[in-house]
Amino acid sequence: MQGLKGMMKMTTLKGLVLKEIDSGEASKSICVLTAESGVIYIYVRGGRKSTKTTSATQAFSYSTLCYEEKKNAKGQVSRYLNSSEPVKLFYNIRLDAAKVALASYFSELIIYSGTEGEEYGDVLRLALNTLYFLDEDKMPADLLKCVFEFRLMCEIGFMPKLVGCTHCFKYEDEKMHFNFLEDELECDECCMNPDSGHSMILDKMLLYVVRYIALTDFEKLFYFKISDRYLKKLNEFTERYVSYHLKHRFGALDFYKMLK
Ligand SMILES: [Zn+2]
Repeated sequence: MQGLKGMMKMTTLKGLVLKEIDSGEASKSICVLTAESGVIYIYVRGGRKSTKTTSATQAFSYSTLCYEEKKNAKGQVSRYLNSSEPVKLFYNIRLDAAKVALASYFSELIIYSGTEGEEYGDVLRLALNTLYFLDEDKMPADLLKCVFEFRLMCEIGFMPKLVGCTHCFKYEDEKMHFNFLEDELECDECCMNPDSGHSMILDKMLLYVVRYIALTDFEKLFYFKISDRYLKKLNEFTERYVSYHLKHRFGALDFYKMLK
């Protein structure tokens, strides 16, 4: 729809609010994950006061957002919220401080790695599914964290080579070495430097889980269980994977670990 001024455009789309940022005394900006436009920022006039738009524009709300887009002389786009309607609010997350911290970590990961203008349909789907499972306690929070961390990396272009040993193509072995610098597997026989500080040993079970999270369909992604012993190993793998690729420390993750 064309607005009254030539440069104004009205857009309506669904998005997941990742974060609220205070702006002035009464207003805020929201950082939103959308399928069509990636991660975008929308200004909410008076958004810090309690109004009918509050629930739809708070963090972890999935909402229909209608906004005006304005371009300045330099071509930079600003967005101003016109109206909003909640689609799904994930109430239970807000009632639990550890869940809020974990959901905030998911947001931080998306904001840090996301860009405006990209097709993010799969990332949005992953985020909504993850929040649903967190909200409903349908998967242990620590396992959900591993699934989200690693699958997000795979979705945004950091898919490791998991087909088999990079030298002899062996599909599995009692011990496979995953090298975080090269993003590839080596079997025990071929492994050039088994004591490398940049690699981690994956046994058959752990390799199976890692492949499952990277490659399985969204419909099946959250339907598995592992023992505490494997959860600890998986957690080491997914956290190291994130830190090798994003090289960033996430405050909300530290906070989550303190609270859980
Ligand atoms: Zn090999």
